Amino acid sequence: MSEGLLVAKDRVITVRYAIRGADGTEVESNREGEPFVSLHGHGSLLPAIETALDGKASGERLNLTLTPDQAFGEHRSDFTQRISKKYLPNPNRLKPGEQTTLQTREGPRTVTVIKVGGKVVDIDLNHPLAGQTLEFDIELVSVREATAEELAHGHAHGPGGHHH
Ligand code: ZN
Repeated sequence: MSEGLLVAKDRVITVRYAIRGADGTEVESNREGEPFVSLHGHGSLLPAIETALDGKASGERLNLTLTPDQAFGEHRSDFTQRISKKYLPNPNRLKPGEQTTLQTREGPRTVTVIKVGGKVVDIDLNHPLAGQTLEFDIELVSVREATAEELAHGHAHGPGGHHH
């Protein structure tokens, strides 16, 4: 039904991906789980990846190497913060070095625990993959038109997308 559609802004794309570090180690992948569904051109993928996917057809594969500034940013040693435990899920179970999710105004953000105190937690706000040059293996599984509701919400619905 949506065969032949190419990736463009406001179309819904489904991708499978694997991310490898400079040493070839796989750091993240959704090959086994649910594919990632995204309303294209709305920033749910890295801008360099959205640009590379533009005009591609389902079934195409991309292999991209992104520098830290194109991927998850440079690692900043001063990018830490002391926050109240109430902003973190299950704060008393956290241990230094673990990752947790902080709810921010811009949405959930993965942070790394530095130190757990009585009422506060010191966290590192750098993205866990900050400072790394990364290789992205991306398979474009499908492309379809977005529904009016998806366009109004600015994100994709259905399996792999937002559930309301
Ligand atoms: Zn929605």
